[in-house]
Amino acid sequence: MSKCQRCASERICSIYAKSSDLNSGDIAGVEFDGYVPHDVGIGGGDSVEIDWCLQCGHIQGEWPIETPAQYVKEPEEAFDFDDFFKKEE
Ligand SMILES: [Zn+2]
Repeated sequence: MSKCQRCASERICSIYAKSSDLNSGDIAGVEFDGYVPHDVGIGGGDSVEIDWCLQCGHIQGEWPIETPAQYVKEPEEAFDFDDFFKKEE
């Protein structure tokens, strides 16, 4: 039996939740809709897979995780309208 990475409790709960493309959510302020996002520690693709601790609530995995590039929100002030329209010419 595996132990919690944080508190060493053996009361680990696991779920494999097949949800195909019926997911929606928010990653660091960027909404998604469809398949389970990869590279955020919850499985990916067709299913959500999570192991968590019933003692402390910690989700087991490798943390921290970098926000995947497709979910990194551009800072509002970084958007340059002049530059954007120049590329249209
Ligand atoms: Zn724990």
